Amino acid sequence: MSRYRDSVCRICRRENLKLYLKGDRCYSDKCSFDRRSYPPGQHGQRRRGKMSDYGVQLREKQKVKRSYGLSEKQFRLVFERADQKKGITGENLLLSLELRLDNVIYRLGLANSRPQARQLVRHNHFQVNGRKANIPSFQMKVGDVVEVREKSRSVQAITDALEAAVRRSAPQWMELDSENMRGSIRSLPTREDIAMPIQENLIVELYSK
Ligand code: SF4
Repeated sequence: MSRYRDSVCRICRRENLKLYLKGDRCYSDKCSFDRRSYPPGQHGQRRRGKMSDYGVQLREKQKVKRSYGLSEKQFRLVFERADQKKGITGENLLLSLELRLDNVIYRLGLANSRPQARQLVRHNHFQVNGRKANIPSFQMKVGDVVEVREKSRSVQAITDALEAAVRRSAPQWMELDSENMRGSIRSLPTREDIAMPIQENLIVELYSK
């Protein structure tokens, strides 16, 4: 997979939305988006004309894809699987993204950002239902329990994230047991549980062309 090597703050500025990719920094006055909320680059401050329908759909897809940290290939695959399921494709897509192991860890507050959650998962710091889980895209189900492995309980990134998480509460579709460094899925998230401003229908339109 090709890696994005530029400053991730440029992504927020490009998508005109805070995507919270840098943990604590995103909540501080160092946030680049708060300081310069115009697109990056030499012509970032230039007034732009009206975007085409295709441009609007593309930006919406990019925003969601980058927010969850997926490559185009990975995102397309998630979309195709969502399209094959019963129900509304756009909502299926968001549900699959929310139930990814790295996202669940981030939402619970066991990591400060999705990129950090993904790295911690890859480095074998978590287990799901008592078994080692090191695949960030692993799909969680209702009743699944994710916990920090015994050997990883003093990892600074996790303890710092948990400290901050206790101040923010986990979404209602999951439950955090901060003392035991574990969390579980109480119910499937509903569309209303996903607070980020997303028009998933635009992504469906884009991929249906
Ligand atoms: Fe985005 Fe966080 Fe950077 Fe702000 S600090 S621009 S929210 S990644």
